[in-house]
Amino acid sequence: MNRDTNLDKIQSFNRQWDIVIIGGGASGLGIAVDASKRGYRTLLLEKNDFGKGTSSRSTKLIHGGVRYLQNGDISLVIESLRERGILKKNAPHLVRDLSFVIPTYDWWSSPFYGIGLKIYDMMAGSLGLGKSLILSKEETIKLIPNVNKKGLRGGVIYHDGQFDDTRMAISLALTANDQNACLINYCEVIGLTKEDNLVTGLEFKDTIKNQTYEIKAKVIINATGVFADKIIKMDQPKSKKLIKPSQGVHIVLEKKFLDSQHAIMIPQTTDGRVLFAVPWKNYVVVGTTDTQITDTLDEPKPLKEEINFILNNASKYMTIKPSKKDIKSVFTGLRPLAATSNKKSTKEVSRSHKINISTTGLISILGGKWTTYRKIAEDAVDASISLGGLRKRNCKTKNLRIHGFRKKVDWDDPLHVYGSDSRKLKSYGSHKDNASLSKKFFISNSIIHWSVKKEMAMTVEDVLARRTRCLFLDSEESLRIAPQVAKKMAEIMEKDKAWVDEELKKFNTLSKNYKA
Ligand SMILES: Cc1cc2nc3c(=O)[nH]c(=O)nc-3n(C[C@H](O)[C@H](O)[C@H](O)COP(=O)(O)OP(=O)(O)OC[C@H]3O[C@@H](n4cnc5c(N)ncnc54)[C@H](O)[C@@H]3O)c2cc1C
Repeated sequence: MNRDTNLDKIQSFNRQWDIVIIGGGASGLGIAVDASKRGYRTLLLEKNDFGKGTSSRSTKLIHGGVRYLQNGDISLVIESLRERGILKKNAPHLVRDLSFVIPTYDWWSSPFYGIGLKIYDMMAGSLGLGKSLILSKEETIKLIPNVNKKGLRGGVIYHDGQFDDTRMAISLALTANDQNACLINYCEVIGLTKEDNLVTGLEFKDTIKNQTYEIKAKVIINATGVFADKIIKMDQPKSKKLIKPSQGVHIVLEKKFLDSQHAIMIPQTTDGRVLFAVPWKNYVVVGTTDTQITDTLDEPKPLKEEINFILNNASKYMTIKPSKKDIKSVFTGLRPLAATSNKKSTKEVSRSHKINISTTGLISILGGKWTTYRKIAEDAVDASISLGGLRKRNCKTKNLRIHGFRKKVDWDDPLHVYGSDSRKLKSYGSHKDNASLSKKFFISNSIIHWSVKKEMAMTVEDVLARRTRCLFLDSEESLRIAPQVAKKMAEIMEKDKAWVDEELKKFNTLSKNYKA
């Protein structure tokens, strides 16, 4: 997956692309996999880096959504549970089982959630990951030693999936690339072109080389998440807003605050939502919030109240109470919820996806979840066939193995996310010094080299935020090792000192967003 090669491909390809996708998040990358697997000439353009948007900022769950069951959104739960099973089968190196404990503090909670979760198990059918069970007080304490014991009556345990969202995003990009799709990061779509009032192409800018291009396409798919309305306005300037963005914040703590391999699910927060405390890569991710916002930024900012809300609600369930100074990192994402005509609060808006086709033939993806990205892609490509007059070919992703597919996984090996590539990666670039740059994370010179040469990492942020997850887990530590990462990247990419200085300046500013 080489950026220069792919730009050359675009320049030399002077025919119409079958499908051009705007946006390289879960939805766009999933569509690139589906379309290229069906044999369509596929191009994907991402204005930042793959996964830089919402798709790097999720709770990292591949789940049916217990909360959606509470809301009565049965069809979404059934679809998500089915997709969870498909994804676990096709990407066993990236999706793992995780058990969740709901601690209960009154007489009715255990039977109430116990029955609900039995229904959840039944809905998953043969794709279930394990049976839910009602726990005694002693069993709950054994599973979550740091659970608040005051008034504890027992608990319920159930199972869902967990993943590393950006490693999944990069693996999807590589899967599409394996099938001859052309994917490029740092290319922003700046305009749509039309003939006879139909969208027939677009203009984009390579923001690294500062060069613009025009291309023609049979179908253009707007998969830009919370930015979808901006592309829709390029097509129909008077269009109403179709996306209702809602912000979600996570804080990251040291693992001692949970001290368990099981997650805690808090079913009823002070604002009537659920909150998770999830063990992830030797840390604990706690979140999230649901705050309706109007500004859609590439780097959304957490509100003080959101951080306090998470700390207060999590503290009620933990013996060691976290405070602001314990926060290792904060990350904030924007949900691209499909707007509804009624005045529902964002927590009530369904997370299911919609495919919108404008009168000029622009397809836009609205809403959706990481868990259902494959189904979103299938629906979008199915819609493209009739719209673009493409030769009909059926979806092939139900059984398509994701790049790096490997069944036997050692979850303690930090390289497990690379799956079958991990052996080659270990000695990639034959560096004399290949020890980890950090005691907290495994980031070696080989990983940096691999990220640049095989995974299109262009900036220090790409390596520290999305090829590895250092920035998301420990912002101070990522700042400490950034100079070594920049120096190594410059060596591999043949960049000068000015590039290193500029990269470090940008990373320094960015990392402030990840501090509480
Ligand atoms: C706090 C939070 C927690 C979540 N947790 C979960 C979870 O645990 N499990 C789950 O299944 N789902 C979860 N979700 C939902 C899931 O993360 C999102 O639904 C999904 O990531 C959206 O993907 P997307 O591709 O639509 O959007 P994005 O990931 O935002 O991708 C859109 C891309 O388009 C690019 N773009 C924008 N404009 C342009 C342009 N002009 N030219 C080129 N590119 C452009 C952007 O840079 C961006 O990368 C969560 C969401 C949030 C906010």
